[in-house]
Amino acid sequence: MNSFFNPFSQGTIKVTDTCNLRCRACTLWRKDYVNSINSDTIINLIKKNKFFNIYSRKKIFNIIGGDPLCSADLPCILSFLKRNNIKINIWTHGIHPYESFEKTFMFSDNFFIYLPSPDPDEYREVSGNNGLSQFKDTVNFLLENKKNIIINFPINTSNIQLLPDVYEIIYEKKIYGLFHYNNRDNFSSDSKKYIKRFYNIRNILVYKSISMDSLCTSFPAKSLNNPVHYYKNFFFELFNSLRQKYTL
Ligand code: SF4
Repeated sequence: MNSFFNPFSQGTIKVTDTCNLRCRACTLWRKDYVNSINSDTIINLIKKNKFFNIYSRKKIFNIIGGDPLCSADLPCILSFLKRNNIKINIWTHGIHPYESFEKTFMFSDNFFIYLPSPDPDEYREVSGNNGLSQFKDTVNFLLENKKNIIINFPINTSNIQLLPDVYEIIYEKKIYGLFHYNNRDNFSSDSKKYIKRFYNIRNILVYKSISMDSLCTSFPAKSLNNPVHYYKNFFFELFNSLRQKYTL
């Protein structure tokens, strides 16, 4: 079955608080703290053979941050997971040298690439980085290396009109998209109807989500953990996967 997620068997590991973007909505890069679960801690757990005492064993792990590619320990952590037959989703914004990606190629299954905006000016404004062209180069580089890519686009009230532009990138590159939005945002009923149109597009998943302050805000944290969202999203995924299976 062709599916982005298997929500009944996935875990999340935050490997770093560090990030080289400066997103407007993010609190992580403003804080000067060391998280209790960082890559040193994870490496120690691995070395002491206690990793699965802390993290439940899952079929899939989402590797998040900050941005996980900012962690020098990432290849070591990924290698451990792969040795344990775990599928690996890496959640990154993609603004890194190609070598950083190459170090993960042996282990990674999917790259969820955060797109702050498909508009160059807004990309800069939202992320504090002039990186839209580098984002596109990264997507091309990963595709040339036959990697699975899912464009991760958090929808809010000020970027909803850009959904067709994001979809254009997904369509042109023949990749997947994950659109997620917080239902508590002030979306008008027309906006909600508009978002729902994307429910019916084959290679797009639309999730309801709530980001968490302690994680990269582009990660749809509570879609994966909140039971209500979890089960709703599971049925969306199942439906979408079946449709892909029988229509591709
Ligand atoms: S939202 Fe994510 S990508 Fe943006 S600065 Fe924060 S951690 Fe980095």
